[in-house]
Amino acid sequence: MERIETLLGQMTLEEKVSLLSGANLWETVAVPRLSIPSFKMTDGPNGARGDAIMGGQTAACFPVGSALASSWNKDLIGEVGVALGQEAKTKTSQVLLGPTINLQRTPIGGRNFECYSEDPYLTAEMAVAYSDGVQSENVGVCPKHFLANDTEFERHTISSNVGERALRELYLVPFEAVVSRSKPWSIMSSYNMINGTYASSHRELLVDVLKNEYGFDGFVVSDWGACKETVGNANGGLDLEMPGPARTFGSKLVDAVNSGDVDVSEIDDKVRRLLAVIIKSGRMDNPQDTAETSQDLPEHRALAFQAAVEGMVLIKNDKDVLPFIPQTLKTVAVIGPNAKQGQIQGGGSSGVKPHYQVHPLAGIIKRLGPDVEVLYEVGCSTHKYCPAITAGQLRTADGKDGYLMQSFSEQDWSGEITMDRVMRTNRVSFWGAFAAVKRGAAFSARVSAKLTPNQSGLHTFGMFSAGQTRLFLDDVEVIDNWRSQEVGDSFYGMGSSEKRGQIELKEGREYDLRIDFLTSGDSMMSGVQFGMEPPVDENVIQKAVDAAAKSDCVIIVAGTNPDWETEGNDRADMTLPGEQDALIKRVLAVNRNTAIVMNSGSAVDMPWLDDAPALIQSWFGGQEFGAAIAALLFGDENPSGRMPLTVPHRLEDTPAYTSYPGENGQMPYGEGIYLGYRWYDTRQIEPRVCFGHGLSYSAFDYSNLVMPKTSDAKNLVIQIDVTNTGNRVGQEVVQLYVHDVHSSLPRPAQELKGFEKVTLDARETKTVTFTLNPRSFSFWHTGLKQGAGWHLEAGEFEVRIGASSRDIRHKHIVTITA
Ligand code: BGC
Repeated sequence: MERIETLLGQMTLEEKVSLLSGANLWETVAVPRLSIPSFKMTDGPNGARGDAIMGGQTAACFPVGSALASSWNKDLIGEVGVALGQEAKTKTSQVLLGPTINLQRTPIGGRNFECYSEDPYLTAEMAVAYSDGVQSENVGVCPKHFLANDTEFERHTISSNVGERALRELYLVPFEAVVSRSKPWSIMSSYNMINGTYASSHRELLVDVLKNEYGFDGFVVSDWGACKETVGNANGGLDLEMPGPARTFGSKLVDAVNSGDVDVSEIDDKVRRLLAVIIKSGRMDNPQDTAETSQDLPEHRALAFQAAVEGMVLIKNDKDVLPFIPQTLKTVAVIGPNAKQGQIQGGGSSGVKPHYQVHPLAGIIKRLGPDVEVLYEVGCSTHKYCPAITAGQLRTADGKDGYLMQSFSEQDWSGEITMDRVMRTNRVSFWGAFAAVKRGAAFSARVSAKLTPNQSGLHTFGMFSAGQTRLFLDDVEVIDNWRSQEVGDSFYGMGSSEKRGQIELKEGREYDLRIDFLTSGDSMMSGVQFGMEPPVDENVIQKAVDAAAKSDCVIIVAGTNPDWETEGNDRADMTLPGEQDALIKRVLAVNRNTAIVMNSGSAVDMPWLDDAPALIQSWFGGQEFGAAIAALLFGDENPSGRMPLTVPHRLEDTPAYTSYPGENGQMPYGEGIYLGYRWYDTRQIEPRVCFGHGLSYSAFDYSNLVMPKTSDAKNLVIQIDVTNTGNRVGQEVVQLYVHDVHSSLPRPAQELKGFEKVTLDARETKTVTFTLNPRSFSFWHTGLKQGAGWHLEAGEFEVRIGASSRDIRHKHIVTITA
């Protein structure tokens, strides 16, 4: 492009290099002399969060990745993408930092909820639909995190040691698809190493594969803080260091160019890629900065509802327990830690401040109306850290709801007041515009409030922080996280572990709550989270059981929360937190007309499943979660989600079990190409819930498979008729798997190579068409004479079409004449 070359020709080396690091947390550097504006990025992926981590504007909150993928509906995900593009604009951003397209390698991966699936094909299709949607609004996507960033263990340094076949057949597939089909404006390189080289320095992957082989023409941005090697990153293919200001690029990169370690042509290539995006985004011609806004649109509400509905999976429905018929109900028990406070998103950078949120209990009460009595019991608690102090108990000295958070330029609560805000969240991260605190600077901060407990008795306070903290009540120190601290898993692994302290409090009395905070500024992170647990009720499970026993039906909303499923930490195991397993067993023993809603972002252990009549996996369903689950439970909507991942019986059954997390910073991907159902199917391990499974309130018949006996695999067309044999409109996800009958190299038992979601009226039949291509049958061969590559081997392949990976309805052999 001429405009780019003209600008490039006018820039000094320093100006060029200045473009290659951020100015701050989200924006790049402008070059005013040449009228080159900055541009802005925002997280991503289930909403557009904007500038502020916790303060700022509200945003539409869509279901998380595992929920979106469960819809298996490309058109719907495309529409969500369009809405997210619009949302990013309200946050005055040109690039949305998503989708997350790593694979769910183990059920305990902390960011599984953000990812789509264990399967690369499903992930790729979702990534393309989402990216096309966002970019149709002229907002760029940033598929992340490239590459093999599938767990959070030692996430800044771990080396994911992955074989070439697994990289090509699994982990690269979504990136390859999104680059070749959607032309993303950017890609984020991950924190981890791949086979001993930092992802952000990996020339072979970033330059040879991504840019040259796949033809990626956008820019590669480092994950926040992943740019650590000036020369390595620059020559390795990284284009933009984030966040700013420059630490690794900047003057160090200028020096590296001057000393000959980095060629100026490398710099020019990066600048071209960034300028191209600035021009494409329209910023070059329209550089005014406007304030972020919040737009809660009815169409986004409707879409968030639809996505939540289609993303939920009816896993079990013995004797058609569901849907519950409201007209037949007098009393309904709604039980569980996630009922009143449903979880709509996971923990970490993807979290947005939602415009609003419908909780399951509220959604159910609204749906049932005044004629049905709803008995609510929490059943047990599941918090990992002391929970937030509930509304109404904290006020500022001048009577406002919440607490006063102030930060000070000096380290002794003196000097300039850099922030002075009334806050209500239990967590504060001193990041971005929110803090007005300079990155890397030492400062102090203070929380002050009046606490009026609404119970008497022994209260437990908990607190952790990135920085030193202590908590006082009426000047009595309750928690000392100051003189000594233990490293914990909070704040993306940069914070302390939680410290607790107990104190007797009287209901209705006012106490002065104060938290002092201090940081030296050495860490990228600074922040504090605090909470309070009131006296514990010993009878919580019994109360839930009693409510269940006297109700016509029971809805248990179980699950995890963003403290358990979060960026920064994997879970230790798959067990549901708290006493939930015991709670579920005891409720099932007194009332068989029970449906369980599993409000988790990834697979959890469900030892009671054989005994449970009905289960809906709801995932983290976004702002409309409660309305969507009520619509499914009471039959207003027909379930159509399908599992994007396998739920194993035991963690020990899972593919990565013996190689996770490895040792001494090395994490072998020992399962190789056998990820997800590829592992369970090849090794014939019975899963608890198989990949692709999901029920409907309708039933579907498959007939008339039409398919050639031989083919050269190019545009191989396969058709099958699907009939809705039920008596209501429903959606079926028709899945196509390929099994290689004879292969010169070992291959998984079957691989997903096509799927279509069809909507069918009662008794309606539609023909579903799949078009396969050579890639549908090929594997990556490293032993070819002409060098490694995709290899299509002539011979017999079995094409399997069905309703899940283990519910194959038709099989047919095709002979491929390569
Ligand atoms: C996450 C990215 C995110 C970035 C900016 C990182 O910690 O890994 O996914 O986009 O922060 O918030």
